[in-house]
Amino acid sequence: MEYKIAVLGSAAVGKSSIVVRYIRDSFAESYDPTIEDAYKKHDEFEGKARILDILDTAGMAEYSSLRTQYMEKGIGFVLVYSIIQLKTFQAIEPLIKQIYEVKQKEPATCKIPIIIVGNKVDLDSPGERAVPKEDGEKLAAQYGARFLECSAKTNVNIREIFEQLVNFVDNSDFKHKSEKKSKCPFL
Ligand code: GDP
Repeated sequence: MEYKIAVLGSAAVGKSSIVVRYIRDSFAESYDPTIEDAYKKHDEFEGKARILDILDTAGMAEYSSLRTQYMEKGIGFVLVYSIIQLKTFQAIEPLIKQIYEVKQKEPATCKIPIIIVGNKVDLDSPGERAVPKEDGEKLAAQYGARFLECSAKTNVNIREIFEQLVNFVDNSDFKHKSEKKSKCPFL
């Protein structure tokens, strides 16, 4: 089974950096807002071989049909904000709501595999941090999502993002299209 994962969030929060760190363990200080790409990665979690099909999204208008398509096709979602930029955190809840809307599900009855990720934790200092860790945790708890703080720059919690998301998909009510009697099908 392939895991179709979409990485979403405001511009410059580090979406591409997280994906590139995970795929080829490298990091670039330079910023190219135009990059949008799909990557395939074979990995092994808890002794099981997995294929991740990761879409690094960029530059989309809020309600573009392209974004809706990503949400329809995705089985798991990485929603990224920057811990040093409050408005990027404020952009997360509308994204969650949009995913539930597109999948026509209710958080109370069907938990879509979502992990909220606070990136750039290497910049954490009293003067710099704009989003307390507890705020991220609270938002995740509200929607039954997972939560991690990470750094693409220093490679903190990057592989864990994808490991947790795959684990979430495996343990959710999600069933593959071909399987019957799913309580919570969203593909
Ligand atoms: P995207 O637009 O969300 O894909 O963001 P990018 O991955 O292009 O990153 C935007 C900028 O933030 C770039 O200059 C990156 O070098 C920088 N950046 C990304 N992740 C981190 C991180 O974990 N720590 C720090 N300090 N900078 C980062």
